[in-house]
Amino acid sequence: MRAYDDQNIFAKILRGEIPNTTVLETEHSLAFRDIAPAAPTHVLVIPKGPYVCFDDFALNATDEEIVDFTRAVGKVCELEGVQDNGFRVIANAMSDGVQEVPHLHVHVLGGRNMGPMVVRTG
Ligand code: 5GP
Repeated sequence: MRAYDDQNIFAKILRGEIPNTTVLETEHSLAFRDIAPAAPTHVLVIPKGPYVCFDDFALNATDEEIVDFTRAVGKVCELEGVQDNGFRVIANAMSDGVQEVPHLHVHVLGGRNMGPMVVRTG
């Protein structure tokens, strides 16, 4: 069981306890700039609901939340102007996915060639 920890940093951002640089806010989603950008465009898109990671959200969120979130990701790509050259969307999950913050977020990365998707170690 992966209980949602409401003391995680993104929950604090959603409650307004920690500042953020907002790119887009919708009824069910918030997009803001990553504090340590790994590319010229590095925006995090999160649902406002308490979902730990992607599969939690995909299986348990309402259709309305899922549509809102998916459209928010698309809108961020539009706002950031990365549609023509392309971008990468990443959702890390749990320990093997090396997820640092246990509130679902997708990284929207672009503005440069993002290189290989993963580093092969084997
Ligand atoms: P993860 O490794 O969980 O997929 O990514 C977490 C991301 O959250 C990291 O890229 C990290 O830089 C970002 N991050 C961590 N703390 C904060 C914060 O307080 N504000 C913002 N805007 N981003 C944060």
